[in-house]
Amino acid sequence: AVALTEPDCLFCKIVAGEVPANIVREGERTLAFRDINPQAPTHVLIIPKEHHPDAAAAGRAGQGLLDEIAREAQAVAEADGVAESGYRLVFNTGPGAGQTVFHLHGHVLGGRGLEWPPG
Ligand code: 5GP
Ligand code: ZN
Repeated sequence: AVALTEPDCLFCKIVAGEVPANIVREGERTLAFRDINPQAPTHVLIIPKEHHPDAAAAGRAGQGLLDEIAREAQAVAEADGVAESGYRLVFNTGPGAGQTVFHLHGHVLGGRGLEWPPG
């Protein structure tokens, strides 16, 4: 069995309301809140309420959470008025890619020019 919540996980604590967050959207299975250290005018994190360490783990779980995060990202971008100009949805996966919080989160970045490839 897979734990739905990890006791020492920061984002599980946000889901539980134990750590405050600027929540912009809540779904049945997902939560979207503003990044505490925004890298763009729109910088929102979308997480599953269930604890999955990263996108690979969520993909293996086969619950459609990554699809749902993609749909939520579009809704967040539309609400922030950045869908038209374009936005980026990023899953940092593993410490080597800069992942620091090991509860899956999609970064929605928009509202400024975004170069490709990223740094
Ligand atoms: P990662 O580097 O794991 O892909 O992204 C983690 C993100 O979580 C970072 O962009 C960081 O600014 C954000 N973050 C870390 N702690 C908190 C927090 O307590 N609240 C919020 N809203 N964001 C956080
Ligand atoms: Zn967690």
